[in-house]
Amino acid sequence: MNTTHVPADILQVGESLIRFVEQEVVPLETANRALLASDRTIFDEAGRFTPPVETLRREVRERSARQGFYTMFGPEELGGGGLGPVAAVYLNALLSEHCGPGRVLVHPVVIPSPFTNGLSPVLAHLRADVRERYLPALASGEKTLCFGLSEPDAGSDVFAMKTRAVRDGDHWVIDGSKQWITNGPYADHAMIFAVTDPERAARRAGGVTGFFVDTKSPGFSVVSTIPIMGHLGAEIGILSFTGLRVPDDHRLGEVHEGLRVALGGVNTGRLGLSATCIGLARWALVQAVDYAKIRKTFGQPIGEHGAVQILLADSASDIYAAETMLMDCAVKLERGERALSELSMVKLHCTEAANRVFDRCMQVHGGMGLTNELRLEEGYRFTRSMRIPDGTSEIQRRTIARELLSRGVTF
Ligand SMILES: Cc1cc2nc3c(=O)[nH]c(=O)nc-3n(C[C@H](O)[C@H](O)[C@H](O)COP(=O)(O)OP(=O)(O)OC[C@H]3O[C@@H](n4cnc5c(N)ncnc54)[C@H](O)[C@@H]3O)c2cc1C
Repeated sequence: MNTTHVPADILQVGESLIRFVEQEVVPLETANRALLASDRTIFDEAGRFTPPVETLRREVRERSARQGFYTMFGPEELGGGGLGPVAAVYLNALLSEHCGPGRVLVHPVVIPSPFTNGLSPVLAHLRADVRERYLPALASGEKTLCFGLSEPDAGSDVFAMKTRAVRDGDHWVIDGSKQWITNGPYADHAMIFAVTDPERAARRAGGVTGFFVDTKSPGFSVVSTIPIMGHLGAEIGILSFTGLRVPDDHRLGEVHEGLRVALGGVNTGRLGLSATCIGLARWALVQAVDYAKIRKTFGQPIGEHGAVQILLADSASDIYAAETMLMDCAVKLERGERALSELSMVKLHCTEAANRVFDRCMQVHGGMGLTNELRLEEGYRFTRSMRIPDGTSEIQRRTIARELLSRGVTF
């Protein structure tokens, strides 16, 4: 990645981050090679991480937190490092490129998803004296968090949500369910969004409120994990609430203004996720270029065949364009610009380009590309899945087109 816009201190953070992974995570991976080698030992029969894997992930989280990496993108007002969009792009891409896909102790353990876990900016909307009780354990990685917005009938169309919260004295009572929630099956706390004014929600004019919930509370249950893309288990899951009581002082922001709160953190999330995908794509291209030099067919390295060169060249072009967009968008966001359509273009292009790159790099490897051993298929599955969360590709195109039609060609 072109590092022109990356300040020297962030480049240094990058070096420390990679050193941390090599010195603290890789030895744990090596010592637990058999455990981490297969989904059969990573997950139990219900699709949950097995206890030893959960223990290892907690160990890495806490070590990352002690070094300051785990909370480096958290807002300073919450005690985080306050690193901005440029750092988020550079460091997420660097970590992914260095580590490659399928590292359950790395993604997203060393650096959590920026608004759904760790020191999420959404927590800034929790009353200061209340959040002080929870922040230390969330910042140290001892406790984890999840972000519950989507439901079985409400994904892209969040206002279709059916989860309701009704005021009862100084409490709210929540009934409903959430689906696809990252870290939902494992989290100690959940940020849950529920309709509090059905009439306003029906008009798409607010009416949704956010709540900070203890997942051990009576009425909160984890229904299941949702294994996706050939995995035997998952980080994501389904949550259910029956008469779940939450004190009013655990509200996230103003009553009926929860969607503003929820979507406030999405920008950083989209950027980090896009950078992660492109870092992985770079990793894949390095594998493909190396293989194209050593694998011979018809008496010459496959890299000499025009058709293979096209696979490599198109992948490089996809990555170069994506990285350039990523950094340009990050710089604009860092300057405080709105960059709404740019961010949507970044999320759309980076996730789709990364998926194309993995597809091509698997093709360069022939049969080897399909094997679990090389982890290319793991990256393919991951990048394919990232075209859905944080706004699907179609929703990003909708945002871009709406911006074009209402504000003109302003990017
Ligand atoms: C791995 C993963 C992790 C996730 N993590 C979380 C999480 O932590 N918290 C959380 O709250 N949610 C999470 N989600 C949910 C995610 O945000 C939703 O899956 C996403 O918003 C899409 O919603 P949906 O699956 O209901 O699809 P739908 O909204 O039903 O869409 C179905 C199809 O229709 C298209 N479509 C819908 N509306 C339009 C439109 N207006 N114009 C054009 N096309 C349209 C979509 O692009 C898609 O192709 C996660 C999802 C995944 C896969």
